Parts: sequence; C-alpha cells; structure tokens
Amino acid sequence: MLDINRQLCAYCGGCVGVCPTLALLLDELTLVVDQGLCNGCGNCVAVCPVGALNLSKNAVGVDVSE
Ligand code: SF4
Ligand code: SF4
Repeated sequence: MLDINRQLCAYCGGCVGVCPTLALLLDELTLVVDQGLCNGCGNCVAVCPVGALNLSKNAVGVDVSE
C-alpha cells in the first residue's frame, strides 16, 4: 500500500501526473490514494520532491478500505 505523509506533502501534484492507474487524487485540501487502484509501480515515490510517499510492498494491491 502507499503511505502519504501529509505533513511533508507540498501539494505540487507531481505524483498525480505520473500515476498510470489514476490512483492519486489531489485537491486544494488533501492528497488521497485509492489503494485498490495502486499497482505499486513506485512512480509517485520516485517523483516526489519531499519524500512524502512510501510503499510497503507486502501489501501492494490489497484493498485495506474494508
Ligand atoms: S505506486 Fe504507482 S500506481 Fe501506486 S499510486 Fe504511485 S504511481 Fe500510482
Ligand atoms: S509529489 Fe509529493 S509533494 Fe507533490 S503532491 Fe505528491 S506527495 Fe505531495
């Protein structure tokens, strides 16, 4: 699953633009990830300028919303 550190996030939108599955959504107040859509590719982690995103590989693809 993808963890978002909202205290670090600068809301630049860079991660949203590189997500191939459109799992990330940014509005003016918060950044959210749809864990069910995230495929664990790591694009967003690589592009984030402040290191606000982290993947935990053992849970990739698992929908933890239920
Ligand atoms: S790891 Fe890949 S699929 Fe998941 S949110 Fe980041 S860019 Fe999107
Ligand atoms: S790339 Fe990083 S700083 Fe920019 S919106 Fe995404 S998580 Fe926030």
